[in-house]
Amino acid sequence: MTKKVSIISLGCSKALVDSEQILALFKDSGFELTNEDQDADIIIINTCGFIELARKEARDTITQYLKLNKVTIVVGCYVEKNDEELKRLFPKVSLFIKFSDYDKIPMILQDYLKEPQALSLDNRLINQGTFAYLRIADGCNKRCAYCTIPDIRGKYTSVPINDLIRQAKMIGDQGYQELVLIAQDSTSYGLDLKDNGNLVTLLTKLEQETNFTFIRILYLYPTLVSQELIDVIKNSSVIVPYFDLPLQHVNNRILKLMRRYETKELIISLYEKIKIAIPKAVFRTTFITGFPSETAEEFNEILEFIKKYRFTHLGAFAYSKEANTPAGIMPKQVTSAVKNKRRKELLELQYGLSYLVNQEFVGEVMTAIVEERIDQTTYLVRSYFNAPEDIDGRIILKSNDSLAVGSVIKIKITKAHPYDLEAVKA
Ligand code: SF4
Repeated sequence: MTKKVSIISLGCSKALVDSEQILALFKDSGFELTNEDQDADIIIINTCGFIELARKEARDTITQYLKLNKVTIVVGCYVEKNDEELKRLFPKVSLFIKFSDYDKIPMILQDYLKEPQALSLDNRLINQGTFAYLRIADGCNKRCAYCTIPDIRGKYTSVPINDLIRQAKMIGDQGYQELVLIAQDSTSYGLDLKDNGNLVTLLTKLEQETNFTFIRILYLYPTLVSQELIDVIKNSSVIVPYFDLPLQHVNNRILKLMRRYETKELIISLYEKIKIAIPKAVFRTTFITGFPSETAEEFNEILEFIKKYRFTHLGAFAYSKEANTPAGIMPKQVTSAVKNKRRKELLELQYGLSYLVNQEFVGEVMTAIVEERIDQTTYLVRSYFNAPEDIDGRIILKSNDSLAVGSVIKIKITKAHPYDLEAVKA
């Protein structure tokens, strides 16, 4: 009988792309996919090992799924980093598989099961909605002092431009409306390629050769956002003016300790450049609170900064001390209580500020994709304002028309809330 496989994807959008690639491999190997965990014979858990909070979520998830008594395979960043710990904690897990063996997962599983699989499988991707991710590169050459990603994912490696165009066309043919480009650092795209392609070249080609409603780029490294990139976004009706700039801090001493390349002055100049070119640009960022030796004054600099330079969407993380990182052995580690208090303070301030930012969108007319029908007259839609998967606020549309999921409409924003917007059809 054909074995059924279900995958649980934890962590970031990059992990989600890995999950999709794993499923694509199963497609050729005779397993059936299911979204019903109870129905599955084999459960794959794709873990995130970035910070302790993510690792706890992974451990809880493994514990929960082991109760189902299925063949359980654990993959992902956590396995890459701490497979010995996981093996010790979860002896009942059937297989732990590292990145280097991803292409062999179905084979390894078949060996484990010791029985041939019948060939029948649908080719579903995890994202059956309106958007799909395109991983344009993997790994990272930066060495941020708090980050384990370069050790886990290796050196920055771009996917050749022609392969990306081919993949993007296939995604478009499957009916997805939005293409979301991801990498650990999207702005470094192409720097390692011989043909000198870069993010601007890639975006230009994607716009010319595909028909997406939106193309969105996540994870822009601030020092690498060029005027040329801003102009390409400004002059495009498809590449959305959504600037995802994970800043992490704005105090120059802390930025230097973090081994970030940007300074506060550069951040301000970039913010202003974007604002001048595209006044209605959406800004997203993340900050880390309680980095080793961060003083109250240095933390307050973030608060003062976001009051002046407002972000549409902002995430905050309490610094997580990671083994084998330069920051992990820095003196003057900040206590958990202080790190969390600062995070809370930052998010509370942003709550009020994002309400003000959102109010500036009231009256705006924009293109939107219908994502979900909530009831007879209420829909969730998404425009350039918000990235997929609820990482930003939502846009709630009231309409008496019957709208199909995936349809593209014009909306007018009618009301702002601290995180969400309300709209009607324009
Ligand atoms: S840019 Fe810094 S934080 Fe991002 S993956 Fe690379 S090392 Fe980590």
